[in-house]
Amino acid sequence: MKEYKTIDLHIRNLTDPDVRVPDENLSALQELYALQDPYDQEKSDDLFVKAIQQCAAYHYDRNSFFRKWLDYNYFKSSDIQSIVDLEKIPFLHANFYKTHEIKTAKDEDIVLHLTSSGTTGQKSQMFYDDWTIFSSDKSADTQFDYYGLISNEPTNFLLYSYEPAPNMNVGTLRTRQMMRRYAKENELVYALKYTGNGHEFDLFGSIDALLRFEKQGLPVRLLGFPAFLYFTLERMKDMGYPPLKLNPKSLVMMGGGWKGFVDKQLTPAEFRAYIKERLGLPETCCHESYGAVEHGVAYIDCNHHHFHIPIYSRAFIRDVKTLEVLPYGQPGFLNVVSPMNTAVPVVSLLLGDLVVMHEGKDCGCGVNTPYIEIIGRAGVSKNKSCAIAASELLKKK
Ligand SMILES: [Zn+2]
Repeated sequence: MKEYKTIDLHIRNLTDPDVRVPDENLSALQELYALQDPYDQEKSDDLFVKAIQQCAAYHYDRNSFFRKWLDYNYFKSSDIQSIVDLEKIPFLHANFYKTHEIKTAKDEDIVLHLTSSGTTGQKSQMFYDDWTIFSSDKSADTQFDYYGLISNEPTNFLLYSYEPAPNMNVGTLRTRQMMRRYAKENELVYALKYTGNGHEFDLFGSIDALLRFEKQGLPVRLLGFPAFLYFTLERMKDMGYPPLKLNPKSLVMMGGGWKGFVDKQLTPAEFRAYIKERLGLPETCCHESYGAVEHGVAYIDCNHHHFHIPIYSRAFIRDVKTLEVLPYGQPGFLNVVSPMNTAVPVVSLLLGDLVVMHEGKDCGCGVNTPYIEIIGRAGVSKNKSCAIAASELLKKK
C-alpha cells in the first residue's frame, strides 16, 4: 500500500501528562482540566468562573479585536465573579469565525488549523495551539472514561470517516483518529478511502470488513458518518445477507450528521433500533458525539442518549428573536461559554443549532448536569437549515 505524507494531527497518548497552559495566569484552566469527574458541575463552578475570567483577561490583553469587542460592550473580565455572570459575557456568532481570523496565539504557536467537512457554503475553521488541542481532546477523554468506553481489549475498527490524506485537515477526520486511542487496535479499515486524488466510499471493502469482523468475534468500533454505515447495511440487506451478530462489547459511535443525505436521515432512536436489527447490538452499544469546529468541547451522550453539559462549558439557550436567555424546555440558539481556547477568543459562542435544554435530573441516568437536545442543525440541510427552522418557530409564536 502506498504511504502518503499526511498532516500531523497532534494526537497525544491517553497516558501523556497534561499540556501546560500557555501562561501562568491561566492556572484555573489547568486545574479545571485536571479534574477527574467530567460532570461534577457543582464542585467545578467556582473553578470554572475563575477559568473564564482568566481566559477572558488573557485574550483581552493580547487580542486587539477582543479588547475592542469587550470595551464596545462595556464589559470587563473582572465582571465575571460568579456563575450568574456568565450569560452577560458578550458572545460572538459562530459564523463570525468563518470570515474572520482573529488569533490570539502567535503564528508560531499555532500547531493545527482544522476546518469543517461541509461541502457547500462557507467552511468553519479553527486554529489550535498546544493547549487548545489538549483541552479539546481531554474533554472527550474524560467523558469516554466516565461512560466506560475506553477498553484494552483488541478491537477492530471500521472508520466511516476520511482516510488521512495529504493537506487534509478536516475536523471530523481528526476526531475519528483521536478515538482510535480508546481501544486496542487490532485491524483498521477506512470506508472513505483515499485514492491518491480524492476520497471514495469503499462499499465492498466495508461489507468485507464487517463480515470478517463478525467471524473474528472481537469487539468492533464503528465510527463516523452514519449515512455511510446505513448505506452499507442496506446494501447487505438487498444482497440477501442475514443480519450480523457483532460482539456485544462493540461500539457504534456516529457523529457529523447526515450531510448531503438528509432525505435518508434516521432519528437517533431509529438509528439505534436499526443497529440492533442489522448488527445485533443493544442500544447501549450506540453512542453519539456532538460538537462544533468553533467550540471544541466534546459532548458524549449518556446511557440514556442525552448530551449532558460537561464541566468544561456552561450553556444557555437564547430566544431566536430577542437572544434573551430562555428557561429549560424552550427551544432557541445554543450559547456555550468555555475557557478551553487560548488560541482564538471563543469565550462565549452563539451556535446556529436549534436546541432545547433540560434539567439534568429529568434524564434519570445519574448525571446531574443539564442536557441539550438538538432540534435543528445549522446549515446541514437546505430545507431544515437553522434559519428556516428558526423562522418556522417564529411563525408559531
Ligand atoms: Zn443522562
